[in-house]
Amino acid sequence: MPLQSSRRRPLSGHVVIATHNAGKLAEMDALLAPYGVTTSSAGALGLPEPDETGWMFAENAAIKAQAAATATGLPAIADDSGLCVDALDGAPGLFTADWAGQPRDFLAAMTRVIRELERRAVPQDRWQAHFVSALVIAWPDGHQELFEGRVRGACVWPPRGPGGFGYDPMFQPEGHARTFGEMSADEKHGIPADGSQGLSHRARAFQLLAAACLTPA
Ligand code: IMP
Repeated sequence: MPLQSSRRRPLSGHVVIATHNAGKLAEMDALLAPYGVTTSSAGALGLPEPDETGWMFAENAAIKAQAAATATGLPAIADDSGLCVDALDGAPGLFTADWAGQPRDFLAAMTRVIRELERRAVPQDRWQAHFVSALVIAWPDGHQELFEGRVRGACVWPPRGPGGFGYDPMFQPEGHARTFGEMSADEKHGIPADGSQGLSHRARAFQLLAAACLTPA
């Protein structure tokens, strides 16, 4: 498990985004831009993807961040995230990416969610779900910081909208009439100028990270 210290370590300079997922990378780059932090991705650096052997999102984020920090000698940020559907006992959860198979096919993954709901005869008004994002910053000396965000909503079918990535077209956040796939990038993961809470799980986790470890440029 990542260490959760009461004294936060500031983050500046160049950091590695420990991901091979282009969608996550784009969101993290956009979130970090106002803080003058420059980034390289683990994918672009040719780092191997470590096995995600944890039983919690936070553990897997820590494994990915620490592997990248140790390999590069730079601080590294990793996100481990997923979709948890209430009526599926939290599935796909830790296996959210795996449900898309290899090579990734997210239409197949979204279809599997709906097939599972139908197989259990879950009525559509009980298709509630949430996205979770665990963000871990790891430093080469082993120090780690953890931040978690989540957003509740519901699964919809058929999927709607060309935007975002992964399961975005089938997730409608609570209080909204559109799916993440129908929203602009800014609407989904932008940080409101008035300091209020962002919408996406990753934006919410990032706001905690920024408040604890970042200084605006
Ligand atoms: P991992 O964190 O790389 O193990 O994979 C998380 C998976 O969750 C991704 O491959 C996406 O399919 C899905 N996911 C995470 N965040 C989002 C999001 O913001 N929108 C849609 N899908 C997401």
